[in-house]
Amino acid sequence: MQNEQTLSAWENVSEADFLARLNRVFAQNRLDRYLSRERAEKLYLLARRLFETNTQYNLSAITDPDGIIFKHFADCAALCPMIPEKASVLDVGTGAGFPSLVLAICRPDLRVTALDATEKKVRYVEESARLLGLTNLTAVCARAEELAATDLRKSFDVVTARAVSELRILSELCLPFCRRGGLFLAMKAKNAENELKAAKKAIPMLGGKLKEQKEYSLTDGTETVLRYVLILEKNAETPARYPRPYAKILKSPL
Ligand code: SAH
Repeated sequence: MQNEQTLSAWENVSEADFLARLNRVFAQNRLDRYLSRERAEKLYLLARRLFETNTQYNLSAITDPDGIIFKHFADCAALCPMIPEKASVLDVGTGAGFPSLVLAICRPDLRVTALDATEKKVRYVEESARLLGLTNLTAVCARAEELAATDLRKSFDVVTARAVSELRILSELCLPFCRRGGLFLAMKAKNAENELKAAKKAIPMLGGKLKEQKEYSLTDGTETVLRYVLILEKNAETPARYPRPYAKILKSPL
């Protein structure tokens, strides 16, 4: 779970080093306006906690300081400019809290709900929010397709998902949670074009419409990666029969 390299990377980084690197990477990606001294310190504590918890059970493949700053924190903070002020946000399949924890830290105006089917991960996210004093994050343990039948259906301004599944499947899990006029932001590292093609039929069937296909690069000064966010808008009700049970979604995706 923790390799030697990660261990020594943490041994060799002081809090001041970490904060300097975090500020640099956020500035390089024009995300520095979402950082303050207090938010940066929270991100530092969160990074340490991710690393330390990962020694007990597997939360993430990336737990070295630079990796966390670039591949988790900057990657997730890149969503900040796409989310309207004071929005209620549901993060489907949040895992170790990405993007939910980063959004709750960098955008205190948001009300964030972090959803995952794995109890261990939900407990980790909930406890992280408590330790960091984040009063704008609630963690929920449930399967998205089941929760979508409760009163949380069509109740969020924005739904996010990073690295959960392909768009065709994800749309069935996520769009039901958006209120009319709300947005579903699907974060993609690659294959966005193909996934969009494959979901062409599914999206309108679920009451969604492609609003924008954002493409941007993220850099840490040495490495530059391409990222995509597919922004879907909910412009009609999702028919009550969706989402179907998960096995069915997988077996016959829309
Ligand atoms: N978003 C995180 C985690 C991705 S891993 C990140 O980017 O790092 C995918 C997560 O989705 C897992 O934690 C898994 O438990 C969760 N998940 C998958 N299908 C789900 C479903 N139907 N309902 C709720 N959570 C789900």
